[in-house]
Amino acid sequence: MSTSVVFLLSLIAGPSLAVADTKGLPKQKVTFSSFFDGKNENLIDSGWSQCQMDITWSVDTDALAPKVASREIRRLNSAFEQWSDATGLNFRFTGTDHMTYSTSTNQLTSETMPREDHIAVAFLPARMSPLLSENVYGFGMPTSVIASTRTIVAGAMVVKAEIARSKTRSAPNVLDNLYLHELGHVMGLGHVKDSRSIMNPIIHKLTELSPGERSGAQSVTKLCN
Ligand SMILES: [Zn+2]
Repeated sequence: MSTSVVFLLSLIAGPSLAVADTKGLPKQKVTFSSFFDGKNENLIDSGWSQCQMDITWSVDTDALAPKVASREIRRLNSAFEQWSDATGLNFRFTGTDHMTYSTSTNQLTSETMPREDHIAVAFLPARMSPLLSENVYGFGMPTSVIASTRTIVAGAMVVKAEIARSKTRSAPNVLDNLYLHELGHVMGLGHVKDSRSIMNPIIHKLTELSPGERSGAQSVTKLCN
């Protein structure tokens, strides 16, 4: 039996795009937090399970030109691969979909989308969501959790379409950082203060998961016994 929960959203902030200066900083501590820290005590350390053999994801790219859409699908795929490597989970892309976004629940739905073992991704123009204010580039979250086992069974990620369309030179690293970050929330991770971590709420143009979120992801992901 699943329990659907509407969560507080965890937003990634921009456009503070200063690259983190890692020189002279102490050695990075391996730290992470649960998405549910400070939000829902009963769900802290919820994560996906390796028993979920077929976790699918689909994307709504209606707001993007076809060329941009294929480029961003490739980029998303790389972000999913990094998280797959960190968690031992497998993610399978099922294609594009036409999704409906609800401003009241912030959920993405479609007629064909599975309700479980699925991650919905959508590129939305800023005007479609009041959450996509000027310095917010996207948001991501688990959308359904089996409370008794703290197993996440569905997630959603929204990206501001204007950011994906941007042709500025910084855009590729910004998007890599953004996708990894929002998927980190979908995996069950919360924010950390270390600016060398993908889960820092500011974009530092990071393109690789750090040891912190790798161990965090391993810690919340349930093994299949
Ligand atoms: Zn965030």
